[in-house]
Amino acid sequence: MRVTVAKYGMFRFDDRIAVAVSGGKDSISLLRVLVKMERFRPKASLVAVTVDEGIKGYRDEAMKIAAAYCGNLGIEHHVVSFKELYGFTLDELVAGKRLKGESGLTSCAYCGVLRRRALNVAAREVHATKIATAHTLDDEVQTILLNIFHGDVLRLAKEKPVTDEVHERFVPKVKPFCEVPERESALYAYVKRVPFQSTPCPYASEALRNDIRVMLNRVEEKHAGTKFTIFNAIERIRPAFNGVAKNSHYEECVVCGEPASHGLCKVCQMLREVG
Ligand code: SF4
Ligand code: ZN
Repeated sequence: MRVTVAKYGMFRFDDRIAVAVSGGKDSISLLRVLVKMERFRPKASLVAVTVDEGIKGYRDEAMKIAAAYCGNLGIEHHVVSFKELYGFTLDELVAGKRLKGESGLTSCAYCGVLRRRALNVAAREVHATKIATAHTLDDEVQTILLNIFHGDVLRLAKEKPVTDEVHERFVPKVKPFCEVPERESALYAYVKRVPFQSTPCPYASEALRNDIRVMLNRVEEKHAGTKFTIFNAIERIRPAFNGVAKNSHYEECVVCGEPASHGLCKVCQMLREVG
């Protein structure tokens, strides 16, 4: 992981790093590793940030684990919730849509957009200069295929180990585990005996990502190294994407003032739709 951090120049010596900690094995492991690395950077600081989507029986348990572990490490822990930001939990949003008989987007599609915003807001609240997320090699390759399956070329170009979306309201994101297979992150968590939540999210099975995960694991089992090959292939053609994200034009959302590519940001579009 240190090689990845150095290769992509993920951190500055004086960064205030908001570590996105969900309470799962990857994020708790990342927090532990960054705490160790930070010892060698006296001017840097860490703060753990958790987004509470409001998923009963899942996120509540994960939050307790995250809070307790941060307490053990002596790390400040900041929580933002969908309820306080948007006025509803993810459970309430999903129940409302089911009640109305609407299928539309999956729970994860809503969750992804709302959580991305929540994380950025939380990072700004704690005056972070970077957000570190625990996306593993597996997550990254799933996202690559997901974007290809959706034909979303812009997202394919934008999703990378270090974001370069230029806007003063976006806190830059880095992914120190992007070259760490999920198995290794799990092994680290077990060996170091870090506590983590193992229950999967109740909505996870609905998502296309889940099918891609299963498919990729099957292929990897038969053809070891496939995940790295896909990741490296995209990294090698990345120069061809150069400037796509940088050239993205952002305006201020006419409702909330956050960055938007058109008049209304994605979050406000969703809030309008579910409201
Ligand atoms: Fe949100 Fe889907 Fe992840 Fe659950 S699995 S936390 S609904 S993105
Ligand atoms: Zn908006």
